[in-house]
Amino acid sequence: VEKIAVLGVPIANVTEDETVALMAQMIATRQPHHVVTVNPEFLMEARRNPAFRRVLLNADLAIPDGIGVVLAGRLQGRPFRARVAGSDLVERLAAESARRGWRLYFLGAAPGVAEQAIARLQARYPTFRAAGAYAGSPTPEETPDLIARVRAAQPDVLFVAYGHPRQDLWIAANKDALGVPVMMGVGGAFDFLAG
Ligand code: UDP
Repeated sequence: VEKIAVLGVPIANVTEDETVALMAQMIATRQPHHVVTVNPEFLMEARRNPAFRRVLLNADLAIPDGIGVVLAGRLQGRPFRARVAGSDLVERLAAESARRGWRLYFLGAAPGVAEQAIARLQARYPTFRAAGAYAGSPTPEETPDLIARVRAAQPDVLFVAYGHPRQDLWIAANKDALGVPVMMGVGGAFDFLAG
């Protein structure tokens, strides 16, 4: 996969279709992978937060989320072919899940929001069924319970909506314990989809 560095962070030059194809490969391996949706706020945070910067650099796939990232590529003379927004990916994966039998787990956001997002997705994709949803909080006290809940559901894809940079720091810190083939921080995507 060709990468374009923006502020020192390599980001894959992929379309949404290619992202889904790469995720299908990740799911086939059964090994844990961390996908980060890089937007300008992520890049600003990475400049002042070395731990977050390491998480972005160590991610298995970084995708260009946000028009600011696409514009930065264009200004550098290395344009991205597409913008791949995290909330679009959640919806696309719900559609794929119905067709391919992928199990999606929705972790985070305020209580009831993920369930509402799932209900909206089911209205659009009637055969879609989520593998589970839980709000919780990514604290050290709750983390063992969150990991147990996710593992019990045996998902192929885990969406984590705890806001940045926390959600991606949490995924990276618990990557092997969670063990989900595709794990992705999605920010306010559940709120947006529940809208
Ligand atoms: N959130 C949460 N627990 C927290 C902090 C945030 O569930 O301790 C949720 C919040 O309800 C929202 C999402 O994380 O659904 C963050 O959305 P935001 O648009 O702020 O994302 P960001 O732009 O910070 O990535």
